[in-house]
Amino acid sequence: MLESTWQWFTGGGSQQILLTAIVFLLVGLFLGKRMRSPVEDKHTEAANRGDSSFFKGVQYLLSNDHDQAIEEFTKSVQVNSDTIETYVTLGNLYRSRGDIDRAIRIRQNIILRPNIDEQIKIDALFDLGKDYLKGGFLNRALKTFLQVSQKNPGDARTLKEIESIYEGLKDWENAYATRQKIARLESGSHEHILAHHLVEAGKVCQEKGDGGKAKTLFNKAISTQKTCVDAYLHLGDLHFAKQEYKKAISVWKKVAEIAPQFTFLAYGRLEGAYTKMKNLEPVEDFLKECARLNPDAFTHMALARYLYNKNDMEGALREISNALSLNPGFWEARRFRGQMFLKSGAEDDMLKDYSEIIEVLNIPYLRFRCIQCGFEPNELLWQCPQCNQWDTIGLINDKEAPVDAIQ
Ligand SMILES: [Zn+2]
Repeated sequence: MLESTWQWFTGGGSQQILLTAIVFLLVGLFLGKRMRSPVEDKHTEAANRGDSSFFKGVQYLLSNDHDQAIEEFTKSVQVNSDTIETYVTLGNLYRSRGDIDRAIRIRQNIILRPNIDEQIKIDALFDLGKDYLKGGFLNRALKTFLQVSQKNPGDARTLKEIESIYEGLKDWENAYATRQKIARLESGSHEHILAHHLVEAGKVCQEKGDGGKAKTLFNKAISTQKTCVDAYLHLGDLHFAKQEYKKAISVWKKVAEIAPQFTFLAYGRLEGAYTKMKNLEPVEDFLKECARLNPDAFTHMALARYLYNKNDMEGALREISNALSLNPGFWEARRFRGQMFLKSGAEDDMLKDYSEIIEVLNIPYLRFRCIQCGFEPNELLWQCPQCNQWDTIGLINDKEAPVDAIQ
Protein backbone atom coordinates (compact mmCIF):
# COMPACT_ATOMS: atom_id res chain seq x y z
CA MET A 1 0.00 0.00 0.00
CA LEU A 2 2.74 2.44 0.91
CA GLU A 3 4.65 1.49 -2.18
CA SER A 4 1.68 2.36 -4.35
CA THR A 5 1.12 5.51 -2.33
CA TRP A 6 4.61 6.46 -3.17
CA GLN A 7 4.11 5.85 -6.86
CA TRP A 8 1.29 8.36 -6.75
CA PHE A 9 3.48 10.83 -4.91
CA THR A 10 6.07 10.65 -7.62
CA GLY A 11 3.64 10.14 -10.48
CA GLY A 12 3.17 13.78 -11.51
CA GLY A 13 0.47 16.38 -11.09
CA SER A 14 -2.48 14.89 -12.95
CA GLN A 15 -3.79 12.80 -10.08
CA GLN A 16 -3.96 15.66 -7.62
CA ILE A 17 -7.32 14.59 -6.16
CA LEU A 18 -6.27 11.02 -5.62
CA LEU A 19 -2.94 12.17 -4.26
CA THR A 20 -4.69 14.35 -1.72
CA ALA A 21 -6.93 11.42 -0.73
CA ILE A 22 -3.87 9.23 -0.23
CA VAL A 23 -2.15 11.87 1.86
CA PHE A 24 -5.25 12.03 4.05
CA LEU A 25 -5.11 8.27 4.37
CA LEU A 26 -1.46 8.45 5.37
CA VAL A 27 -2.30 11.12 7.91
CA GLY A 28 -5.18 8.96 9.16
CA LEU A 29 -2.88 5.98 9.59
CA PHE A 30 -0.45 8.16 11.46
CA LEU A 31 -3.07 9.66 13.77
CA GLY A 32 -4.67 6.26 14.39
CA LYS A 33 -1.37 4.89 15.47
CA ARG A 34 -0.64 7.85 17.73
CA MET A 35 -4.04 7.68 19.38
CA ARG A 36 -3.74 3.97 20.02
CA SER A 37 -0.31 4.34 21.63
CA PRO A 38 -0.45 5.11 25.34
CA VAL A 39 1.42 8.37 25.48
CA GLU A 40 2.83 9.31 28.81
CA ASP A 41 2.50 12.93 29.87
CA LYS A 42 6.19 13.75 29.74
CA HIS A 43 6.31 12.52 26.17
CA THR A 44 3.23 14.36 24.95
CA GLU A 45 4.96 17.61 24.15
CA ALA A 46 7.71 15.87 22.23
CA ALA A 47 5.18 13.73 20.40
CA ASN A 48 3.26 16.83 19.34
CA ARG A 49 6.47 18.30 18.00
CA GLY A 50 6.90 15.10 16.00
CA ASP A 51 3.33 15.39 14.72
CA SER A 52 3.79 18.93 13.52
CA SER A 53 6.95 17.88 11.67
CA PHE A 54 5.04 15.01 10.13
CA PHE A 55 2.30 17.33 8.83
CA LYS A 56 4.86 19.80 7.54
CA GLY A 57 6.57 16.89 5.77
CA VAL A 58 3.29 15.92 4.10
CA GLN A 59 2.80 19.53 2.98
CA TYR A 60 6.27 19.64 1.46
CA LEU A 61 5.56 16.34 -0.27
CA LEU A 62 2.41 17.82 -1.78
CA SER A 63 4.33 20.82 -3.05
CA ASN A 64 6.98 18.43 -4.42
CA ASP A 65 9.75 19.83 -2.21
CA HIS A 66 11.44 16.54 -1.37
CA ASP A 67 14.43 18.03 0.45
CA GLN A 68 12.26 19.89 2.96
CA ALA A 69 9.96 16.86 3.27
CA ILE A 70 12.96 14.70 4.20
CA GLU A 71 14.05 17.23 6.79
CA GLU A 72 10.62 17.31 8.45
CA PHE A 73 10.09 13.54 8.37
CA THR A 74 13.54 13.08 9.89
CA LYS A 75 12.56 15.40 12.74
CA SER A 76 9.31 13.48 13.12
CA VAL A 77 10.98 10.07 13.47
CA GLN A 78 13.58 11.48 15.88
CA VAL A 79 10.71 12.30 18.22
CA ASN A 80 8.36 9.40 17.43
CA SER A 81 10.73 6.60 16.57
CA ASP A 82 7.93 4.02 16.60
CA THR A 83 6.17 5.50 13.57
CA ILE A 84 6.86 2.96 10.86
CA GLU A 85 4.86 4.73 8.13
CA THR A 86 7.04 7.82 8.36
CA TYR A 87 10.15 5.66 8.13
CA VAL A 88 8.84 3.95 5.03
CA THR A 89 8.01 7.30 3.40
CA LEU A 90 11.42 8.63 4.34
CA GLY A 91 13.12 5.55 2.87
CA ASN A 92 11.18 5.98 -0.37
CA LEU A 93 12.12 9.65 -0.52
CA TYR A 94 15.80 8.81 -0.13
CA ARG A 95 15.53 6.12 -2.81
CA SER A 96 13.84 8.50 -5.24
CA ARG A 97 16.69 10.97 -4.72
CA GLY A 98 19.24 8.25 -5.36
CA ASP A 99 20.47 8.29 -1.75
CA ILE A 100 20.49 4.49 -1.64
CA ASP A 101 22.71 4.05 1.42
CA ARG A 102 20.32 5.99 3.61
CA ALA A 103 17.27 4.24 2.14
CA ILE A 104 18.87 0.85 2.85
CA ARG A 105 19.73 1.82 6.43
CA ILE A 106 16.10 2.76 7.03
CA ARG A 107 14.82 -0.59 5.75
CA GLN A 108 17.34 -2.47 7.87
CA ASN A 109 16.26 -0.43 10.88
CA ILE A 110 12.65 -1.55 10.31
CA ILE A 111 13.56 -5.20 9.64
CA LEU A 112 15.71 -5.50 12.77
CA ARG A 113 13.12 -4.02 15.12
CA PRO A 114 11.73 -6.48 17.65
CA ASN A 115 7.97 -6.88 18.18
CA ILE A 116 7.05 -5.69 14.76
CA ASP A 117 4.31 -7.08 12.57
CA GLU A 118 5.63 -9.76 10.15
CA GLN A 119 3.92 -8.17 7.14
CA ILE A 120 5.63 -4.82 7.82
CA LYS A 121 8.98 -6.62 7.88
CA ILE A 122 8.20 -8.35 4.58
CA ASP A 123 7.19 -5.00 3.05
CA ALA A 124 10.44 -3.45 4.29
CA LEU A 125 12.38 -6.35 2.75
CA PHE A 126 10.61 -5.71 -0.56
CA ASP A 127 11.50 -2.02 -0.31
CA LEU A 128 15.09 -3.03 0.39
CA GLY A 129 15.05 -5.03 -2.84
CA LYS A 130 13.80 -1.95 -4.70
CA ASP A 131 16.60 0.12 -3.13
CA TYR A 132 19.22 -2.40 -4.30
CA LEU A 133 17.69 -2.33 -7.77
CA LYS A 134 17.81 1.45 -7.89
CA GLY A 135 21.43 1.30 -6.74
CA GLY A 136 22.23 -1.17 -9.54
CA PHE A 137 23.03 -4.08 -7.18
CA LEU A 138 21.18 -6.70 -9.20
CA ASN A 139 22.39 -9.78 -7.36
CA ARG A 140 21.62 -8.36 -3.94
CA ALA A 141 18.21 -7.22 -5.17
CA LEU A 142 17.52 -10.72 -6.54
CA LYS A 143 18.54 -12.35 -3.26
CA THR A 144 16.30 -9.98 -1.32
CA PHE A 145 13.26 -10.47 -3.56
CA LEU A 146 13.77 -14.26 -3.38
CA GLN A 147 13.63 -13.97 0.41
CA VAL A 148 10.40 -11.99 0.17
CA SER A 149 8.96 -14.58 -2.21
CA GLN A 150 9.91 -17.39 0.14
CA LYS A 151 8.04 -15.71 2.99
CA ASN A 152 5.14 -14.77 0.75
CA PRO A 153 4.96 -17.16 -2.23
CA GLY A 154 1.59 -15.85 -3.42
CA ASP A 155 2.86 -12.32 -4.07
CA ALA A 156 2.92 -11.81 -7.84
CA ARG A 157 4.41 -8.32 -7.47
CA THR A 158 7.62 -9.76 -5.99
CA LEU A 159 7.71 -12.52 -8.60
CA LYS A 160 7.56 -9.89 -11.35
CA GLU A 161 10.57 -8.11 -9.83
CA ILE A 162 12.41 -11.44 -9.76
CA GLU A 163 11.45 -12.24 -13.35
CA SER A 164 12.60 -8.85 -14.54
CA ILE A 165 16.02 -9.31 -12.88
CA TYR A 166 16.42 -12.77 -14.43
CA GLU A 167 15.58 -11.23 -17.81
CA GLY A 168 18.19 -8.52 -17.21
CA LEU A 169 20.74 -11.20 -16.33
CA LYS A 170 19.67 -13.21 -19.42
CA ASP A 171 18.92 -16.15 -17.14
CA TRP A 172 16.05 -17.30 -19.36
CA GLU A 173 15.37 -20.61 -17.69
CA ASN A 174 14.73 -18.97 -14.34
CA ALA A 175 12.78 -16.15 -15.99
CA TYR A 176 10.57 -18.82 -17.59
CA ALA A 177 10.09 -20.69 -14.31
CA THR A 178 9.19 -17.44 -12.55
CA ARG A 179 6.65 -16.49 -15.23
CA GLN A 180 5.07 -19.93 -14.79
CA LYS A 181 4.57 -19.12 -11.10
CA ILE A 182 3.06 -15.72 -11.98
CA ALA A 183 0.72 -17.43 -14.47
CA ARG A 184 -0.59 -19.63 -11.68
CA LEU A 185 -1.38 -16.55 -9.58
CA GLU A 186 -2.73 -14.14 -12.16
CA SER A 187 -5.18 -14.65 -14.98
CA GLY A 188 -4.40 -13.06 -18.33
CA SER A 189 -2.08 -13.75 -21.23
CA HIS A 190 1.24 -15.23 -20.20
CA GLU A 191 1.86 -17.49 -23.19
CA HIS A 192 3.59 -14.85 -25.32
CA ILE A 193 6.02 -14.07 -22.50
CA LEU A 194 6.72 -17.76 -21.82
CA ALA A 195 7.31 -18.26 -25.55
CA HIS A 196 9.83 -15.37 -25.64
CA HIS A 197 11.71 -16.80 -22.66
CA LEU A 198 11.95 -20.14 -24.49
CA VAL A 199 13.14 -18.46 -27.71
CA GLU A 200 15.77 -16.45 -25.84
CA ALA A 201 16.98 -19.62 -24.09
CA GLY A 202 17.08 -21.30 -27.51
CA LYS A 203 19.16 -18.45 -28.97
CA VAL A 204 21.73 -18.92 -26.20
CA CYS A 205 21.91 -22.67 -27.03
CA GLN A 206 22.22 -21.83 -30.73
CA GLU A 207 25.16 -19.50 -30.03
CA LYS A 208 26.83 -22.20 -27.96
CA GLY A 209 26.46 -24.62 -30.86
CA ASP A 210 23.80 -26.80 -29.20
CA GLY A 211 21.44 -26.86 -32.18
CA GLY A 212 19.48 -29.83 -30.88
CA LYS A 213 18.44 -28.16 -27.65
CA ALA A 214 17.82 -24.87 -29.46
CA LYS A 215 15.45 -26.61 -31.86
CA THR A 216 13.52 -28.21 -28.99
CA LEU A 217 13.17 -24.82 -27.29
CA PHE A 218 12.02 -23.02 -30.48
CA ASN A 219 9.43 -25.73 -31.12
CA LYS A 220 8.27 -25.56 -27.51
CA ALA A 221 7.93 -21.77 -27.93
CA ILE A 222 5.77 -22.26 -31.02
CA SER A 223 3.53 -24.77 -29.26
CA THR A 224 3.28 -22.35 -26.32
CA GLN A 225 2.34 -19.39 -28.52
CA LYS A 226 1.45 -20.05 -32.15
CA THR A 227 2.14 -16.42 -33.15
CA CYS A 228 5.67 -16.15 -31.73
CA VAL A 229 7.36 -14.69 -34.83
CA ASP A 230 10.82 -14.76 -33.30
CA ALA A 231 10.56 -18.53 -32.77
CA TYR A 232 9.78 -19.16 -36.46
CA LEU A 233 12.61 -16.88 -37.59
CA HIS A 234 15.19 -18.65 -35.45
CA LEU A 235 13.89 -22.14 -36.12
CA GLY A 236 14.26 -21.31 -39.83
CA ASP A 237 17.79 -20.01 -39.21
CA LEU A 238 18.64 -23.30 -37.54
CA HIS A 239 17.46 -25.27 -40.58
CA PHE A 240 19.29 -22.84 -42.87
CA ALA A 241 22.56 -23.35 -40.97
CA LYS A 242 22.15 -27.11 -41.49
CA GLN A 243 21.56 -26.47 -45.22
CA GLU A 244 17.97 -27.66 -44.90
CA TYR A 245 16.79 -24.84 -47.14
CA LYS A 246 13.33 -26.16 -47.94
CA LYS A 247 12.53 -26.63 -44.27
CA ALA A 248 13.91 -23.16 -43.50
CA ILE A 249 11.73 -21.61 -46.20
CA SER A 250 8.54 -23.33 -45.07
CA VAL A 251 9.12 -22.18 -41.46
CA TRP A 252 9.87 -18.56 -42.47
CA LYS A 253 6.85 -18.43 -44.75
CA LYS A 254 4.65 -19.18 -41.74
CA VAL A 255 5.46 -15.65 -40.50
CA ALA A 256 3.44 -14.27 -43.42
CA GLU A 257 0.45 -16.33 -42.28
CA ILE A 258 0.57 -15.70 -38.54
CA ALA A 259 1.75 -12.08 -38.44
CA PRO A 260 1.80 -10.47 -41.93
CA GLN A 261 2.98 -7.15 -40.48
CA PHE A 262 6.29 -8.79 -39.57
CA THR A 263 6.85 -10.63 -42.85
CA PHE A 264 9.60 -8.17 -43.75
CA LEU A 265 11.76 -9.89 -41.14
CA ALA A 266 11.68 -13.01 -43.32
CA TYR A 267 12.43 -11.41 -46.72
CA GLY A 268 16.19 -11.24 -46.48
CA ARG A 269 16.30 -14.75 -45.06
CA LEU A 270 14.13 -16.18 -47.85
CA GLU A 271 16.25 -14.47 -50.48
CA GLY A 272 19.37 -15.98 -48.91
CA ALA A 273 17.88 -19.47 -48.95
CA TYR A 274 16.65 -19.26 -52.54
CA THR A 275 20.02 -17.87 -53.61
CA LYS A 276 21.65 -20.94 -52.07
CA MET A 277 19.15 -23.07 -53.95
CA LYS A 278 20.02 -21.05 -57.09
CA ASN A 279 16.36 -20.36 -57.72
CA LEU A 280 15.05 -16.90 -57.02
CA GLU A 281 11.73 -17.29 -58.83
CA PRO A 282 9.84 -18.39 -55.68
CA VAL A 283 11.06 -15.23 -53.87
CA GLU A 284 9.44 -13.07 -56.52
CA ASP A 285 6.19 -15.04 -56.34
CA PHE A 286 6.25 -14.89 -52.56
CA LEU A 287 6.94 -11.15 -52.45
CA LYS A 288 4.26 -10.39 -55.03
CA GLU A 289 1.78 -12.47 -53.07
CA CYS A 290 2.76 -10.62 -49.87
CA ALA A 291 2.42 -7.25 -51.60
CA ARG A 292 -1.06 -8.26 -52.73
CA LEU A 293 -2.19 -9.55 -49.32
CA ASN A 294 -0.36 -7.11 -47.12
CA PRO A 295 0.67 -4.04 -49.09
CA ASP A 296 3.07 -2.34 -46.69
CA ALA A 297 6.13 -0.24 -47.41
CA PHE A 298 8.55 -2.96 -46.30
CA THR A 299 7.11 -5.47 -48.75
CA HIS A 300 7.32 -3.05 -51.68
CA MET A 301 10.88 -2.20 -50.67
CA ALA A 302 11.84 -5.89 -50.55
CA LEU A 303 10.31 -6.37 -53.97
CA ALA A 304 12.24 -3.31 -55.25
CA ARG A 305 15.52 -4.77 -54.02
CA TYR A 306 14.69 -8.10 -55.57
CA LEU A 307 13.84 -6.55 -58.95
CA TYR A 308 16.95 -4.34 -58.84
CA ASN A 309 19.11 -7.42 -58.34
CA LYS A 310 17.39 -8.92 -61.34
CA ASN A 311 18.34 -5.77 -63.33
CA ASP A 312 14.68 -4.77 -63.67
CA MET A 313 15.24 -1.04 -62.97
CA GLU A 314 11.80 0.03 -64.10
CA GLY A 315 10.11 -2.50 -61.82
CA ALA A 316 12.38 -1.56 -58.92
CA LEU A 317 11.59 2.16 -59.27
CA ARG A 318 7.88 1.41 -59.46
CA GLU A 319 8.04 -0.58 -56.22
CA ILE A 320 10.05 2.14 -54.46
CA SER A 321 7.40 4.66 -55.49
CA ASN A 322 4.74 2.32 -54.09
CA ALA A 323 6.66 2.08 -50.83
CA LEU A 324 7.09 5.87 -50.63
CA SER A 325 3.47 6.60 -51.41
CA LEU A 326 2.56 4.45 -48.41
CA ASN A 327 5.25 5.95 -46.22
CA PRO A 328 6.90 9.20 -47.43
CA GLY A 329 9.33 9.13 -44.52
CA PHE A 330 10.75 5.72 -45.44
CA TRP A 331 14.36 6.86 -45.65
CA GLU A 332 15.75 3.50 -46.59
CA ALA A 333 13.60 3.58 -49.75
CA ARG A 334 14.68 7.18 -50.51
CA ARG A 335 18.34 6.27 -50.09
CA PHE A 336 17.95 3.26 -52.34
CA ARG A 337 16.25 5.33 -55.04
CA GLY A 338 18.91 8.05 -54.72
CA GLN A 339 21.63 5.44 -55.19
CA MET A 340 19.88 4.13 -58.29
CA PHE A 341 19.57 7.63 -59.78
CA LEU A 342 23.19 8.46 -59.00
CA LYS A 343 24.35 5.27 -60.65
CA SER A 344 22.34 5.87 -63.80
CA GLY A 345 23.08 9.63 -63.89
CA ALA A 346 19.36 10.51 -64.05
CA GLU A 347 19.76 14.20 -63.15
CA ASP A 348 16.16 15.26 -63.70
CA ASP A 349 14.89 12.44 -61.52
CA MET A 350 17.42 13.34 -58.85
CA LEU A 351 16.23 16.94 -58.78
CA LYS A 352 12.61 15.85 -58.54
CA ASP A 353 13.47 13.50 -55.71
CA TYR A 354 15.44 16.23 -53.95
CA SER A 355 12.46 18.60 -53.97
CA GLU A 356 10.25 15.81 -52.59
CA ILE A 357 12.75 15.13 -49.83
CA ILE A 358 12.71 18.79 -48.82
CA GLU A 359 8.92 18.60 -48.54
CA VAL A 360 8.98 15.62 -46.23
CA LEU A 361 12.03 16.66 -44.21
CA ASN A 362 9.88 17.73 -41.29
CA ILE A 363 8.13 14.37 -41.06
CA PRO A 364 9.75 12.49 -38.24
CA TYR A 365 10.40 9.01 -39.44
CA LEU A 366 9.38 6.68 -36.68
CA ARG A 367 9.35 3.05 -37.43
CA PHE A 368 8.72 1.43 -34.09
CA ARG A 369 6.97 2.43 -30.90
CA CYS A 370 5.94 0.74 -27.66
CA ILE A 371 2.17 0.82 -27.15
CA GLN A 372 2.73 0.50 -23.42
CA CYS A 373 5.13 3.34 -22.69
CA GLY A 374 5.67 5.12 -26.03
CA PHE A 375 9.38 4.31 -26.27
CA GLU A 376 10.68 4.49 -29.84
CA PRO A 377 13.60 2.19 -30.53
CA ASN A 378 15.55 2.30 -33.80
CA GLU A 379 14.89 -1.35 -34.50
CA LEU A 380 12.23 -3.91 -33.80
CA LEU A 381 12.65 -5.35 -30.32
CA TRP A 382 10.46 -8.02 -28.79
CA GLN A 383 10.90 -6.63 -25.29
CA CYS A 384 10.69 -2.91 -24.63
CA PRO A 385 13.94 -1.68 -23.02
CA GLN A 386 12.04 1.03 -21.18
CA CYS A 387 8.99 -0.69 -19.68
CA ASN A 388 10.24 -4.29 -20.07
CA GLN A 389 6.95 -5.47 -21.56
CA TRP A 390 7.00 -8.17 -24.24
CA ASP A 391 5.43 -7.70 -27.69
CA THR A 392 4.39 -4.11 -27.10
CA ILE A 393 6.65 -2.62 -29.77
CA GLY A 394 5.05 -2.41 -33.17
CA LEU A 395 5.41 -0.72 -36.50
CA ILE A 396 4.24 2.79 -37.05
CA ASN A 397 3.19 3.99 -40.41
CA ASP A 398 3.47 7.73 -40.98
CA LYS A 399 -0.01 7.63 -42.48
CA GLU A 400 -1.64 5.21 -40.09
CA ALA A 401 -1.13 6.29 -36.53
CA PRO A 402 -2.01 3.17 -34.54
CA VAL A 403 0.72 0.73 -33.86
CA ASP A 404 0.40 -2.84 -35.00
CA ALA A 405 1.92 -4.86 -32.19
CA ILE A 406 1.27 -8.56 -31.92
CA GLN A 407 -0.14 -10.17 -28.85
ZN1 LIG B 1 7.59 0.17 -23.41
